[in-house]
Amino acid sequence: MTRKIDNFAFLDRARGEPDVYPLEVRRSEFREIYKPYSAEEAADQSERCLDCGNPYCEWKCPVHNYIPNWLKLAGEGRIMEAADLCHETNSLPEVCGRICPQDRLCEQACTLATGFGAVTIGAIERYIVDEALKQGWRPDLSHVRTRPWSVGIVGAGPAGLACADVLTRNGVSVTVYDRHPEIGGLLSFGIPDFKLELQVMRRRREILEGCGVHFRLNCEIGRDIQASELESMHDALFFGLGTYTPVEASLPGMEKGGIVPALEYLIGQTCHLYGLDLPGYPFIDLAGEEVLVLGGGDTAMDCVRTAIRQGAASVRCVYRRDQQNMPGSQREVKHAMNEGVQFEFNSLPLGLVHEDRKLVGLDIARTRLVASADGRAQPEVIPGSEQRLPASAIIFAFGYRPSPPAWLEALGVSTAESGLVHTGPQLAGQTGNPAIFAAGDMVRGSDLVVTAIADARETALSIIQFLEMQQAQLKRA
Ligand SMILES: Cc1cc2nc3c(=O)[nH]c(=O)nc-3n(C[C@H](O)[C@H](O)[C@H](O)COP(=O)(O)OP(=O)(O)OC[C@H]3O[C@@H](n4cnc5c(N)ncnc54)[C@H](O)[C@@H]3O)c2cc1C
Ligand code: SF4
Repeated sequence: MTRKIDNFAFLDRARGEPDVYPLEVRRSEFREIYKPYSAEEAADQSERCLDCGNPYCEWKCPVHNYIPNWLKLAGEGRIMEAADLCHETNSLPEVCGRICPQDRLCEQACTLATGFGAVTIGAIERYIVDEALKQGWRPDLSHVRTRPWSVGIVGAGPAGLACADVLTRNGVSVTVYDRHPEIGGLLSFGIPDFKLELQVMRRRREILEGCGVHFRLNCEIGRDIQASELESMHDALFFGLGTYTPVEASLPGMEKGGIVPALEYLIGQTCHLYGLDLPGYPFIDLAGEEVLVLGGGDTAMDCVRTAIRQGAASVRCVYRRDQQNMPGSQREVKHAMNEGVQFEFNSLPLGLVHEDRKLVGLDIARTRLVASADGRAQPEVIPGSEQRLPASAIIFAFGYRPSPPAWLEALGVSTAESGLVHTGPQLAGQTGNPAIFAAGDMVRGSDLVVTAIADARETALSIIQFLEMQQAQLKRA
């Protein structure tokens, strides 16, 4: 039965995020920290939407979700219809609901954020899709007209999956290649289970396979299949290879050891949790260690919270700016603080300290922020503020640069000096080779799941346009 919407619900109903598991559970387990909403809670929270007539939330959302519309449906308990609508604009809504930084996207733009508490848009998006899938929702492709084209997609991260989703819904035959044993890219292997459990991606794989997407996993292009061979197997190619080269740091003492690379650490932990064997990603156990994590983004937050769960003796995050200027989601910073991570804000690493080749600490200097021409406050060292922090392991989490494979150039795909792939200007995502397209982090630089999805969905439409033009030319010839 559908519920009647109360347009003034926001006046007497406070913003209510889903409950989280108790701290003692969170500090020792890797499962997602949020419990699901009950049907009643989801409807109550959805009803808080003002339907203000000028949905800034939709504009701030990179995929421009029809937020007020699916909130209304969820408020009325019409979950299957809400799930249909969620999927019209987003290929992985259950993922975005979990890990988008809503506090600087949709929820920041919510009219109620100015004093009443934003609608919990992300949590409701997650609820709608989880609940609909539980009740048997599946994409309806009965109206889809099959097209005679085959597209090869390399990379099963959010960019590759979003491209596969849109192409399949438009009748194009799709094969997705990935070097890993499971789909998801960083969603499955980089981002820890306490934010996004691997089973969410396994469930999405079943759905995509049900729609006809063919996955070839454990298959690295350039090693198992040559790129030139792949080109001849498909009418067009899409690359969503991500960015995997760590931003390098150069600190005195680094050569003496004690350093843990962030992504290897996170991927090794996920593989350990699931008994997966990924060559090059050993399990690094920091139980009992004094851990410092350098950096202030999402990767740094995932590392500190992983170290807490592994039972590190102490975990500190060292960041050169203040909390306000951290690049990652403030929600994750808050969770890290609650879980016992200490933060050394305004702290610049100076060098690693070893005794008998064993890491014992990190020298830092305190900073203050000064205005700069590019608009972002720059840290400036405060003279005489040097200090030593104890450490037996230091994780470097300074972000990632592009990692274009050597074979790209031979395909006619050009890259900038930074390594980012050049695309456009005629068709979104089209590279120097007109039949090859790219999107996600390898084009934009390390960013967000939702921006990778947005770019890849647009690129999928470009691929269809390109194939239609090719077909028209063939007919004329
Ligand atoms: C630790 C960490 C935490 C993050 N947390 C968040 C967060 O909370 N919220 C958020 O929005 N974003 C977060 N991000 C960013 C987000 O994960 C990325 O922006 C997003 O995954 C990019 O998607 P993509 O598809 O471009 O690349 P990826 O997710 O990196 O996927 C690329 C895929 O290509 C495959 N591949 C590469 N080369 C080959 C080859 N030669 N042959 C076959 N397969 C290949 C890889 O195996 C991988 O599966 C985080 C990133 C990191 C590193
Ligand atoms: S996709 Fe992300 S930004 Fe858009 S509505 Fe969902 S949680 Fe908000």
